[in-house]
Amino acid sequence: MTLLHDIRERMAATGRSASTDPVAANLLTLLTQFEDSQWWSPQEMRQKQLAQFALLAAHAYKHSPFFRSRFDEAGLDPSQAWTDHSFSSIPLLTRAELMQQADDIYCRAVPRQHGTVHKVQTSGSTGQTVTVAKTEFNQLLWLALAMREHLWHERDFSATLAVIKAMTPTLDDPAEAARIGWGHPATLLLQTGPSYAQPLAMDVAQQAAWLARIDPKYLLTYPSNLGALLDRYEHGDTVPPSLRQVRTVGETLHEGLRGRCRELGGIEIVDMYSSQEVGLIALQCPVSGLYHIQSESLIVEVLDDDGRQCRPGETGRVVLTDLHNFATPVIRYEIRDYAEVGPSCPCGRGLPTLARILGRRRNMVVFPDGRRHWPLIGAHRYREVADIRQYQAIQHSLEDIEIRLVVDAPLSQQQEARLTELARQALGHPFPLRFSYSKDELPRTKGGKFEEFISLVK
Ligand SMILES: [Zn+2]
Repeated sequence: MTLLHDIRERMAATGRSASTDPVAANLLTLLTQFEDSQWWSPQEMRQKQLAQFALLAAHAYKHSPFFRSRFDEAGLDPSQAWTDHSFSSIPLLTRAELMQQADDIYCRAVPRQHGTVHKVQTSGSTGQTVTVAKTEFNQLLWLALAMREHLWHERDFSATLAVIKAMTPTLDDPAEAARIGWGHPATLLLQTGPSYAQPLAMDVAQQAAWLARIDPKYLLTYPSNLGALLDRYEHGDTVPPSLRQVRTVGETLHEGLRGRCRELGGIEIVDMYSSQEVGLIALQCPVSGLYHIQSESLIVEVLDDDGRQCRPGETGRVVLTDLHNFATPVIRYEIRDYAEVGPSCPCGRGLPTLARILGRRRNMVVFPDGRRHWPLIGAHRYREVADIRQYQAIQHSLEDIEIRLVVDAPLSQQQEARLTELARQALGHPFPLRFSYSKDELPRTKGGKFEEFISLVK
């Protein structure tokens, strides 16, 4: 609250107003609303969500051929008052539908107050591309939620930020880094410190040397890249002395990384759960570390195998409804991630929580008896065994797990035996393992995501 108050005062002092800076003014308005709505009770939030959903459903029925027939086929009248029950009887929207029937799903018209429409593409782990149309209002909402995340974590906006992400151009010149600052949303509202950037393709040893030179307080990157950096630090590379927080995005964060960061001298991880299709989904609570669902923007359901809502402590499939996308209605979309439902948060915010986000079904290992389970990734220090640049495990069948290693020279028998032991601990079962070696970097998705474990068992 105080931070938002400060921002308002500073903007007024520099003569910025709604007429000179409408985006900043709209952003402040949304942030002010969020200050209030985060404390609503879950029941109050749910009522408002269903009222907003009624507007979306009526719009989709009128302008999206796909949703008109979907509601008709399900016997649902979008002009009704929606309840939890009627909402949960809408069939799930699959990624295949969103990909193959995009033209039918798009709305032929969008309310004028939502602004112009643009399209965003998202590439999945199997290379298929989904295109979702979004409005200016969706963009504004994204800015507001991203700013909420800064405010929740009371970031020091004068500090240095470093970014290492896929397809980010190098930004290494101090004058340019200072001029650009942290970028939107922060720079819409205030002056920030510099932000430097490097593409993910940069070699990890070079990244470590670069970070030591830039010495940021905050680093934004992917969990798998952070894991590789931690390996360097644990082997004696210099940890940037000012580094206090790593902000992770884009991939599943494995809990082992948090402990490893803390051991390096109190560096904390703040993770964000987002997707290209709907934007920010859940943000970490500054008090408890649980992930608060961004209920002003979306309805997030976690469903078990029978389609029932999971209870706290249970893990299920994540299903998303974007309440404000009137260009591509994203209604009960099965994003294919799994998450564990969290308890109500001790911070007092009414926004429901997720305790963990667990990635895709294909990131689960399948035991010989058919049970699936999440391998412990990120906690094991494979590089203590040998100089391994990158690794990935592929489960080809119940009896065949391949450990791919990127190394300069193959491992000795002793090293392989030690690694087998560590990998079996992580997998949770004494699987037979085979090693394969390569000198080239292992493939990522187009968006730069990397999966450390993939099961091909159906
Ligand atoms: Zn909380």
